[in-house]
Amino acid sequence: MMRREWIILACLSLVASMALSCTTDQVDSVMKRGIKRMLEDRAEAMDMLKDPDMQVILVGSGGPLDNEERLASCTAVIAGGEFIVVDLGAGTWRNVNLLNLPSAGLSAVFLTHFHSDHIADLGETDFGSWTQGRKTNLDVYGPEGVDQVVRGFSMAYALDKKYRIAHHGEDIVPPGASAMVSHTIDVKDPDEAVLFFDRNGVKAYAFLVDHSPVVPAVGYRFEHKGNVVVITGDTVKTPTLAKHAKDADILISEGLSMRAVKLLSETLAEENQPRLSKIMKDVLDYHIDPVQAGEVAQEAGAKKLVFNHVVPPITNRIAKSIFLSGVKDVYDGEVILGEDGMRFALAPKE
Ligand SMILES: [Zn+2]
Ligand SMILES: [Zn+2]
Repeated sequence: MMRREWIILACLSLVASMALSCTTDQVDSVMKRGIKRMLEDRAEAMDMLKDPDMQVILVGSGGPLDNEERLASCTAVIAGGEFIVVDLGAGTWRNVNLLNLPSAGLSAVFLTHFHSDHIADLGETDFGSWTQGRKTNLDVYGPEGVDQVVRGFSMAYALDKKYRIAHHGEDIVPPGASAMVSHTIDVKDPDEAVLFFDRNGVKAYAFLVDHSPVVPAVGYRFEHKGNVVVITGDTVKTPTLAKHAKDADILISEGLSMRAVKLLSETLAEENQPRLSKIMKDVLDYHIDPVQAGEVAQEAGAKKLVFNHVVPPITNRIAKSIFLSGVKDVYDGEVILGEDGMRFALAPKE
């Protein structure tokens, strides 16, 4: 049971106990059980860091448009004791906790680019993992511009960090572990994949994608004990994408249904919404359609294609079938429409 559910259960038990005129001791005991279970969940979360499998969790599988079912981009990769999150759309740190991931053990953040739907929760993530017990400063990797983003969030949260240290003490929230440290990944050649992270058997490479005018923007390739996970970030179909996704066990690709977004843009124009219509038309030129992502997965020989950054929001089975239509015609592997909370585990191959 997830932590949130235990808290709800404890609260319901409290209300029920009160209604039944239980004694204060009985009520306290119910509350204590809930708290103990919450601590067990936390310990269970930290145990994920000892798991020999490479684990991939979709924390946020949606795009920037408001969406009841999917938060914006965030993917967690846990392997070799490292806990890395790729991109942090709004609200995703809350999901990291609700999904009972090892928040206090967060080792690094990788950003693909600096659109708000990929960075909005950076401040919350840094602050939350620190107050939950992170032992060191937080490394934040990204393409050129990452230092500016890290500086901005750090400045915005500096006062709150000061308040917490004054209130709880340096031994509880150590100032020495409170900072974010930015690392700029320099990738020049679209053919090249730059190894920038190599810790505890986890290797991460960055490669250029094309999300113009967002320049530079990158995707990431993770390797751990013979397994490969590739996250495209936002991009059009580029000539080198399949090369960087070569033999991926899981290719996590963004997906924007050109057909659906075109229809959206045209309908908005007909309904006298020229501003929104123009924005929808513009976004068509810097994303990848699900069928194109299928072509990339096929060329790369990827075993599994998982869609995240699902645009537009999918609200029913018809929208789902429109989003995925044609993908199986071009790709032989398994196709999965990502959902928040979806988990994948890859057993070590070597
Ligand atoms: Zn973007
Ligand atoms: Zn995006």
